Amino acid sequence: MMLAHNTILYAEVILTLHLPYSYCYRVPQSLNEHIRVGQRVAVQFGKKKIYSAIVVSISDKAPKIASIKNILDIIDLEPCLTQKQIDFFQWIAKYYIAYIGDVLTAALPASLRLKSETLLDISPLFSGDMSALTDKEQAIVLQVYRKGKLRIEDYEGEQDKDFLKIVDKLIKRDVLITDEELYNKYAPKREICISLTEEYALGGERLQQLFKTFDSSARYAKQSNVLLTFISLLQGRNLLRRKELTDKNCSLSSIQTLVKNGVFKVEEVEVSRLKQNLQRLQASDIVLNQEQQHAYDDIISQWNEKPVSLLYGVTGSGKTEIYIKIIDKIVQEGGQALYLIPEIAISLQLISRLEQYFGTKIAVYNSKFSTTERTEIYNRVKLGKDDPQRLQIILGSRSAVFLPFTDLRLVVVDEEHDVSFKQSEPVPHYNGKYCALYLAKMFQAKTILGSATPSIESYNNAVQGKYQLLKLQHRYSNTLLPEIFVSDIGLTQKEDGMYGIFTKMLYDEIQNCLNNGQQVIIFQNRRGYAPHVSCNICGFIPKCPNCDVSLVMHKMTQTYNCHYCGYSTPVFGECPECHSHSLRTVGAATERVEEELSIYFPQAKIGRMDLDSTRTKDAYNKIIDDFSNKKIDILAGTQIVSKGLDFDNVGLVGIVDMDFMLHFPDFRSYERAFQLLTQVSGRAGRRDKRGKVIIQTREPYNQILQDVINNDYENMFRSELQVRKKLNFPPFCNMIKINLQHKDRYVLKDKALEYAVKLKEIFGFRMFGPQEPAIARMKNLYNQEIWLKIEKKIAYNLAHEKIRELNEEFISDKKNKNIRISIDVDPM
Ligand code: ADP
Ligand code: ZN
Ligand code: ZN
Repeated sequence: MMLAHNTILYAEVILTLHLPYSYCYRVPQSLNEHIRVGQRVAVQFGKKKIYSAIVVSISDKAPKIASIKNILDIIDLEPCLTQKQIDFFQWIAKYYIAYIGDVLTAALPASLRLKSETLLDISPLFSGDMSALTDKEQAIVLQVYRKGKLRIEDYEGEQDKDFLKIVDKLIKRDVLITDEELYNKYAPKREICISLTEEYALGGERLQQLFKTFDSSARYAKQSNVLLTFISLLQGRNLLRRKELTDKNCSLSSIQTLVKNGVFKVEEVEVSRLKQNLQRLQASDIVLNQEQQHAYDDIISQWNEKPVSLLYGVTGSGKTEIYIKIIDKIVQEGGQALYLIPEIAISLQLISRLEQYFGTKIAVYNSKFSTTERTEIYNRVKLGKDDPQRLQIILGSRSAVFLPFTDLRLVVVDEEHDVSFKQSEPVPHYNGKYCALYLAKMFQAKTILGSATPSIESYNNAVQGKYQLLKLQHRYSNTLLPEIFVSDIGLTQKEDGMYGIFTKMLYDEIQNCLNNGQQVIIFQNRRGYAPHVSCNICGFIPKCPNCDVSLVMHKMTQTYNCHYCGYSTPVFGECPECHSHSLRTVGAATERVEEELSIYFPQAKIGRMDLDSTRTKDAYNKIIDDFSNKKIDILAGTQIVSKGLDFDNVGLVGIVDMDFMLHFPDFRSYERAFQLLTQVSGRAGRRDKRGKVIIQTREPYNQILQDVINNDYENMFRSELQVRKKLNFPPFCNMIKINLQHKDRYVLKDKALEYAVKLKEIFGFRMFGPQEPAIARMKNLYNQEIWLKIEKKIAYNLAHEKIRELNEEFISDKKNKNIRISIDVDPM
């Protein structure tokens, strides 16, 4: 920008706080030359607090406000956000009727959003050498040392205008760390690593000469051996952990000799940067079958005409291979690709598959990772094309859409029907899939949505021609899809053919599989032992004191638990109402399934996979490994077994009870039931044998069941679509849910009505409610819901803006300050 020397600039900034607006600050003239959009600056906000904020626009027009503060300093010259990110985040805030400050908070790793409340600690990587630090830096570091952890605002000393910048520098230099969830997670380790010095680089003349010398005399045998071991272990890397060498019987003293002779270099490296290049396979070696090739060709040939493709391929049809081929093409061309999956934790098989093809070009990104890891990935995505550190492929859960891509050309949304793409807590309640579609549009990138059971919305878009529709109707190996049988619980009970919770049909088939050395998965989508407990004498049912739900009995922990608020209490020996000892458990959850399996199949090894048995990543991996290595014969589990797994010896999938899935008060319950049943069934018989599925039900003639049995997605789609049309549900309208909460049921009722009256003035017949949801009280707060169904033709920004205005007006009224409101656009 060419500026007259006395020009005064104003910067609009956003802060990572729960704030709806951007704020204007004056740019000190000394910074005129340096200020840029996307930069992080330090500002004062509120009485005495300082924050890092992002500049979103710069102008020379004075804002019409009385007092305006100066920006304190620019924290880093290099912008932290791209213009595209700023536009994107503003769109998200608008579309989801969210606060821009909340979007920014969700988007940035903690180290990039410093504020007065930020806690500082000494980085485990800091050597302790203070001599390289300036006086100001030393003062800060000393205080952190002295106090253990230091909140920025508690710093005793001058917080000059460059204070935040100094702190930021110390973080960048690994002297200090900041992390909101730091104290249990962050434990970067350094390891001693060995590499070749430049002089003895691989393939160089010096190294060849050295080997000749080694060959000349037996006294070099040890060194020679170490060097050869080193080279054989490298496999494309440029350094090794020293431990890898010592593990292979290379002695420390021989290693040390090579260091002394200038062959080896020793350094300490942070473990996370040591990730092995796992690339072993070439995408070009994948041979697509005819169906896959067809889909691939169609995608390529209509790349621009149809920016969005829906890849509808049955389970095991090889969708992933197509993604790999296309990602490879993008990477070859120098572009970036984003591969979104519902949940990282349950996609380990997929991750390792992709790492084998893309090695260090790919990184996995998840908001649960430590700040250091997230920051590193964040910065590497933003790098220029020629930088060897640049990341080209991000495999991530929904929050990966926030990364600073510079040249995004492809977005893959795998399992696009999955509800996990939607963020329920905290705000913003965004949907990663729709955000990814918008992001791709901004970059004019291609999007591929993939699923064996597409969402009704996406399939409708495809049928309408908005998306390109691609189908894979056969499994890759040509194994047939599993044969699905229905087992009627009611009828079996009459014939006295139940083995505990298993019908004779399921029991026999499990036995059969075990006899043939095949594995079994038993699916029951509830965790714990029994969903209800009740007194045989007086009918008493233990309920959660905080929520209007009955408690779930957990046998492992001998507790009654609430799955909504986490409340837990030891099981009662006697009924608290009538003091009888006749409490009985009703229904079966996974623990009970596991128990009954061990009773009826005592010779089999049984495993259980649900949220409780997989709390840690290691526990999860162990179960998967044990099942893959056939150390487990029967695996009982919740929907977690339906995702991301690919086992080759599963002869049978049994579904204990599908009925409760159908009676969920949600317009998507049929669609969900179809998806879940199909996905679970897909785990059966994946390699060379046709598998079997047995579904236990009391409603054998339910239409959804028929569609699942016939693997007739399209029939399910057509009948669902009809119902949705008749009742005006998505995809025929857009829905918005407004949830109000208060601890008093009657106060809330009045307030919700008040809110609804105002909303009705604007939206008229499009508004429904207020009404109490199925679970009226949760975590001690009562709920009232208001629903809006808005025609597709109405511009969203108009409707969403109206809601925002009305909502702001409502909350700014002091009388309403205890009402909590959450707005959910496109609720799932
Ligand atoms: P989907 O994701 O559609 O359920 P996958 O991509 O997991 O299916 O493929 C199922 C199996 O078939 C995997 O084990 C995969 O490695 C294999 N497979 C699919 N396509 C090919 C191919 N073109 N060449 C070799 N193996 C393939
Ligand atoms: Zn009782
Ligand atoms: Zn509860």
